[in-house]
Amino acid sequence: MGFDALHHELAAIADLSLLISPADLDRYSRDAYDYSPVLREQLSQCRADLVASAASVQAVQAVAAACHRHGVPLTLRGAGTGNYGQSVPLKGGVVLLMDALREVRSIDPVSGVVTVECGCLMRDLDRALAVHGRQLRLFPSTWRSATIGGFIGGGSGGIGSVRWGFLRDPGHLLGLEVVTMEASPRLLQLEAAEAEALNHAYGTNGIITALTLSSAARVAWQEVVVDCADWTTAVELAQRCGRAAVELNLCTVLQSSIVEHLPSWSGSPRGQHRLLLLVAPDGVSTIERLAHSVQAEMHVLGQEDDHQGNGLRELSWNHTTLHLRNHDPNWTYLQMLLPQPELGCMQALQKRWGDDLVWHLEAVRQQGAFRLAALPLVYWRGAQALQDLIDDCLAQGAFVFNPHVITVEGGGLGVIDGDQVAAKHRHDPDGLLNPGKLGGFPA
Ligand SMILES: Cc1cc2nc3c(=O)[nH]c(=O)nc-3n(C[C@H](O)[C@H](O)[C@H](O)COP(=O)(O)OP(=O)(O)OC[C@H]3O[C@@H](n4cnc5c(N)ncnc54)[C@H](O)[C@@H]3O)c2cc1C
Repeated sequence: MGFDALHHELAAIADLSLLISPADLDRYSRDAYDYSPVLREQLSQCRADLVASAASVQAVQAVAAACHRHGVPLTLRGAGTGNYGQSVPLKGGVVLLMDALREVRSIDPVSGVVTVECGCLMRDLDRALAVHGRQLRLFPSTWRSATIGGFIGGGSGGIGSVRWGFLRDPGHLLGLEVVTMEASPRLLQLEAAEAEALNHAYGTNGIITALTLSSAARVAWQEVVVDCADWTTAVELAQRCGRAAVELNLCTVLQSSIVEHLPSWSGSPRGQHRLLLLVAPDGVSTIERLAHSVQAEMHVLGQEDDHQGNGLRELSWNHTTLHLRNHDPNWTYLQMLLPQPELGCMQALQKRWGDDLVWHLEAVRQQGAFRLAALPLVYWRGAQALQDLIDDCLAQGAFVFNPHVITVEGGGLGVIDGDQVAAKHRHDPDGLLNPGKLGGFPA
């Protein structure tokens, strides 16, 4: 590959800065894949040859043209908080930082529909929406540091999923502005139906420069913590809360051994299992009634906005794993949708795996129905033990979304999405965007 010639061409592009120090090449060739010991081993040697940061859509087009001319792979990066090596350049080449494209282009005051550039941090986008009495429907627990383009490119759901389901559900993503990877890169405006194929495609089938998204009316979410003496009560209470006529934005259920190792933002541990809830103000008294009916102890911590970076949302989703790993880095995790009834499956797995498996549940809306997803903490005992556990979960009827694999399909249901592959052929026919990540389009 002609890196010297490419370097020379990139250096001449307006609104583009190059980062070429060995420290920068290392830093921007990693993401948060170290949560997986499997990926750590596979990805630690991958390294970009050049890193560039684009501050305009024209610069993105010029980089795509130059990489295409030289046949060099191009991997996109938002904030690099993905957990599956999504922004790791498997084949080297150029890593393009998208976080300088961060303008909120428009917010419709009536519908709340927002058009925003890909590198806008979700924290900043949410602040812009707040001015119009709106908020993001869904966001990851990394909302303060992660970009909206990276969330669509590599995320799936998070806070808000108990109300709004997952990112790929129709209705969240309404359109995309996309640069293609061709000799003369095109700037496309995709409507919702066409945009779906780029949703959760790890930046393999188009360079997203702007997104159009729906939003929700802003709610003054109240932080509520409920402690339960036994696990069955905690799970059943979460189910009752989720099915009650109460608006929730988060419903996390944690076994007591997790609570012990969390920062104290949800209150000190009381040796009990804990529910972390974000509840609309008019629902707090109902949650209190449900909690008292099972002799659980409830604490209202107040309005979420007052707690900023140390609220319940940063104890939930994969932040739970983060806090446990801070305590002992041998903890890793799995992701699955539990079969119903959930308690039987959890008890069977816990009986076999003992203290190496600790339950962390997140209530979600899956295809319109209330369900419990699980992000159990798993103590690392080697790759074979992890595979045995995954096999056990599958045998129990769980859908496992394996966080220890690098392909789009491997982290999903293992099925190739024909629309994603067709979009790859249309927008990146030579397979230069993030090669190796879309299983249906062999590198
Ligand atoms: C502690 C922790 C908690 C997390 N919690 C959640 C959670 O609750 N829910 C969740 O879904 N995820 C979660 N994640 C994963 C991750 O933080 C989110 O998915 C986040 O939204 C990714 O955004 P990013 O800017 O860091 O993207 P990156 O990691 O930089 O990129 C993600 C993917 O998108 C692609 N991409 C980036 N920008 C573009 C673009 N402009 N065009 C096309 N493709 C692009 C990249 O190539 C990559 O494949 C968590 C991670 C950690 C470490």
